[in-house]
Amino acid sequence: MESRKIVLLGPPGSGKSTVAEGVSSKFSLEDLYMGQVLREQVAKETIIGNIVKEYMLKGELVPEDFIFGLAYLLLSSKDNFLIDGFPRTLKQAEYIDGKGVTFNAVLFLDVSEEEVVRRLSNRRVCPSCKAQYHLLFLPSKEGENCEKCQTKLERRADDDPETIKTRFREYHSKTAPLIELFMRKGLLYKIDASLPPKGVLDETVAALNKVFSIQESPKVEAEKEE
Ligand code: AMP
Repeated sequence: MESRKIVLLGPPGSGKSTVAEGVSSKFSLEDLYMGQVLREQVAKETIIGNIVKEYMLKGELVPEDFIFGLAYLLLSSKDNFLIDGFPRTLKQAEYIDGKGVTFNAVLFLDVSEEEVVRRLSNRRVCPSCKAQYHLLFLPSKEGENCEKCQTKLERRADDDPETIKTRFREYHSKTAPLIELFMRKGLLYKIDASLPPKGVLDETVAALNKVFSIQESPKVEAEKEE
């Protein structure tokens, strides 16, 4: 099978991790999440973690030098993945391309800032098992506690309204230019992320079916000719 390397792109709170959870096993893709890799460094209090923590708490992007090494470790030996949160700048895209990692498609989750603020301020996470919830769309059956491990749920440290604003500024100035880049490369698939979760998943599945059938069809033709 050809390699399957997919990027999830979209503003904070556009539902990237929900999409990843919903489609990765269906398409045999490993679910990779740069934000989680960074949060693990912070939790383990590594040298990198102690530095990047400040940027993350403010909602700013972490400087490129830290991301490059982590991204290389994360992606260079993998063939089938869905990555959320990388690349997030033109420099990151250039860097990983230079390392020979080429993507098959970029799924762009398109949603308004207003809708995203509503979603993020209601998001909750389990500090213990990392399960994600949403007070409106995906409430825990245990109320304020995690359904899986009963730990009290928390708001992510960077989900407060001021930090959300900064994350948006960063997204518009540094990440949004990637939309144009991937469109020019013919890799961009736009998903209407303002739909309810089921609609977003359906659109994503349809886009991935298209990506993989486009890739695999020339082979089928070649086999027919033999
Ligand atoms: P996320 O969970 O994807 O919203 O990421 C949380 C935070 O991690 C972001 O606000 C950034 O501070 C940092 N981060 C995640 N991915 C990247 C990246 N590719 N480049 C720079 N900073 C990142």
